[in-house]
Amino acid sequence: MKTKVQDKFTTLFGEGGQFFASAGRINLIGEHTDYNGGYVFPGAIDCGILAKIKVNGTKKVHLFSIDFDEYVEFGLAEEDKPSQSWASYVFGVCRETIKRGGKVEGFDAVFAGDVPLGAGLSSSAALESTFAFALNYLFNNGIDKFELAKIGQSTEHNYCGVKCGIMDQFASIFGKQGSLIRLNCKTLEYKYFPFNPKGYRLVLIDSCVKHELASSAYNKRRASCENACAAIRKNHPEVEFLSDAKRLWLDEVRDQIPEEDFLRAEYVIGEVQRVLDVCDALERDDYETVGEMMYQTHFGLSRLYEVSCEELDFLNKLARKHEVTGSRVMGGGFGGCTINLVKDELYDEFVTAAVEQFEAKFGHAPKVYNVVISDGARVLE
Ligand code: ADP
Ligand code: MG
Repeated sequence: MKTKVQDKFTTLFGEGGQFFASAGRINLIGEHTDYNGGYVFPGAIDCGILAKIKVNGTKKVHLFSIDFDEYVEFGLAEEDKPSQSWASYVFGVCRETIKRGGKVEGFDAVFAGDVPLGAGLSSSAALESTFAFALNYLFNNGIDKFELAKIGQSTEHNYCGVKCGIMDQFASIFGKQGSLIRLNCKTLEYKYFPFNPKGYRLVLIDSCVKHELASSAYNKRRASCENACAAIRKNHPEVEFLSDAKRLWLDEVRDQIPEEDFLRAEYVIGEVQRVLDVCDALERDDYETVGEMMYQTHFGLSRLYEVSCEELDFLNKLARKHEVTGSRVMGGGFGGCTINLVKDELYDEFVTAAVEQFEAKFGHAPKVYNVVISDGARVLE
């Protein structure tokens, strides 16, 4: 990737420039907790975006995407938004930096990536974070890391039409090799935990399906959580988000809310606790407990929160059968990947079986991504 970027840069822009990179992300555990004020537990991975960038002394950005094999030029005013959607991520980052009082002037850039697009590994956050970090560095803006993550998030909201939370950009900016980061979505406090699963691998199996009901189902889940939360709040006014509630407090209101809302809330309250349990386990290097929690999350997402699907339940069941340590659906659900923590010696057998049996049942092969927890946004020396 580096030579491709380097060669194209030299051809288009000549000498000079600096390399910047950022990463995609996984979330080990903590799903559907963000909008309930709970924890997520992401980490940056060893695939991302690599860009070579040089300030060009003009008011224009000259941008080449290796993967789209396309060159785009744009100015830095609000009305200069490029029509290519891939370029609007970079344009958005420029604009959001400027809105925060940062300086951004013209630059030349070539970039490439190896995060699969739309697979749930947040290639878009990798792209935003690379440029947010690089512009801050090149123009000496002194914007703090949290604000850099928010620049990426606002880019999605205001220039790409995606109303995302902060997790992806946060992980991509703050990611550190050998560490996962527990983020409290209510207070935005965060803490690093060691993740060095020696003797295990992290592998994602991508079902390559996306069932349609996703967005309406998502809104319904949110409404259920709010409803359960409101009922609990009547007894316990300190409960701002569902994640503040104790399990016992949910039981108190069981007959006051629809059973469906109860099950959704049961999942969320359990999931918040599981993130904490996983963090404790990691401090003991106890990957068996981590794995068991991942299975419990899958069960919860499938049976209580009801956001799994046939393909993902199939992959999860297959993981159990092959004695995979931990496995669960990752992301919002209704398709996408399972994330699996697998012992080295069981890896080949599991992955082969997953690919063959999934294809035999569903008529197309899943994709397999091996990931290692790595550094987030950075300048390369
Ligand atoms: P993801 O779940 O991977 O973030 P999104 O749909 O949010 O999926 O973002 C994917 C979009 O991000 C792509 O369609 C493209 O516009 C942009 N993008 C990501 N990676 C690259 C890349 N390597 N080169 C150019 N654009 C990219
Ligand atoms: Mg994205």
